Order: sequence, then C-alpha cells, then structure tokens
Amino acid sequence: MKENKLKEIIEFGIERGWKANIVGDFTEARMDQVTGEYLAWFKFQELPEYSLSAVLFLFSHPFAKAVFGEEDHDAQWDDDGGTLPCLNCKKDAGYGADYCWQHHLQQAVISDSPIDYYFEYINEKKEN
Ligand SMILES: [Zn+2]
Repeated sequence: MKENKLKEIIEFGIERGWKANIVGDFTEARMDQVTGEYLAWFKFQELPEYSLSAVLFLFSHPFAKAVFGEEDHDAQWDDDGGTLPCLNCKKDAGYGADYCWQHHLQQAVISDSPIDYYFEYINEKKEN
C-alpha cells in the first residue's frame, strides 16, 4: 500500500535529518478517502493532529536533501563519451544536477509515481 511506503519514506527522511517547518511528531501516512491525496499526519503536544500534503515535502529541497544526500553527483565519462553511473549514488549521471539530491528529485518529479520512486531508492539504500 502506498500509505505504508509513504510512512517508510518519511521515517527515512526524519532519520536523516529532515525537519522542514513542521512541529510535533510524525504519526502516520494516510490517503484522503475523498480526494485521493496522500497526507502525512503530525501531533504536537495536546493540539489536534494536523496533516501535510505529501507533495508539499516530496518535491521540496530539504526533504530531497535528507533522503537522497548532498554528495556531488559525479558524472564519469567512458571512452566513447557516454556517461557512467555517479560515483556517489551509483545512478545514471546526467546533465543539470550538481548534487545527488538534485538528480533524484528531478527523476521523482518526472516519474509516474514519486512515492514509488522514493520507496525504491530507500530500499536499494537499505540493501546496500
Ligand atoms: Zn549521484
């Protein structure tokens, strides 16, 4: 389920220092039954729980930096002028991304499902 994937993604980001401008603790990820929007829920002290739309942070620089890392996205060139995988994140080196988080954020934005893109990335990270 996408809610479970989103929960893992958020926990991964928090473990790696994502704070954003939220207060309180992340409690769960849910899909809004009416709109189909994915939401992250937070709880601060005794105040009512509140939610953020997942797109507000999945496509934000601070969240992408926490999840994908701020290492240089290091393009390597083979003898035929083709690109080899980045030395840091091991993914395709491309144009227009100086840092790994920029490359992966671009890929997440153009993917069919940003949640699936993030989820696959963190699971590859966990395996390595
Ligand atoms: Zn990279």
